[in-house]
Amino acid sequence: MMMVPAPPTPLAVALGCPWCGCPSNPSPSVQTCAGCQKRFTLSAGPALDAAVVPAPFHPASPRIPLRWSAVVTYQFATLEPPGIHAGTLDPVMALSPIEQTSIAYGDVVSIAVWRKLGIVDCVVAVLVPLPIALFCGWIAILIAFSRVPSFGAAAVFAAIALAMGALAVYLFRRGVVIGKRKARVVGRWGSSTAHVETSPAFVDELFRRCGIVRPPVP
Ligand SMILES: [Zn+2]
Repeated sequence: MMMVPAPPTPLAVALGCPWCGCPSNPSPSVQTCAGCQKRFTLSAGPALDAAVVPAPFHPASPRIPLRWSAVVTYQFATLEPPGIHAGTLDPVMALSPIEQTSIAYGDVVSIAVWRKLGIVDCVVAVLVPLPIALFCGWIAILIAFSRVPSFGAAAVFAAIALAMGALAVYLFRRGVVIGKRKARVVGRWGSSTAHVETSPAFVDELFRRCGIVRPPVP
């Protein structure tokens, strides 16, 4: 691969709100942006704060890979022993990177973490399991209280209603409580944003290897 020297990342990017880019300061707790009022955490990395010392390099540190789909391609981020590799995978096999950024843990200027509502999960919950649950629950009540009640049929509809209700709760929980978590890592020479909701271990290890005390989840 051709190595093109990257220009240094402007400090305004590293110290910007991950939602709108408004200037903000690193803080150990969750903060609300002065510009867009949205919540996030911003932590100073070793390249910004001399008090932050990355964990010593260990060649046998486990690789922690993460993959998520963009519209057509797959994006990836992997914690390697010396740093984080992230980029886009080829659209056909989703195996080899077509674009890649590497950031050594010691070069991390800042890490921002934020959470978006999982809109697709919420919309699916409202459109599919919730109406089925309500409809089957209603039918179960109608059958149970009809002039010729059939408790077997009522039980079947009640069971479908409960199962679909549980599915709706699961989807709402995944969409609202867990949400779409993202971590933006800004290095001296480049930055990368990973979708981290599927791997809490990735975030834990990222902060640990950079020597940053892990902030609470926004
Ligand atoms: Zn903002």
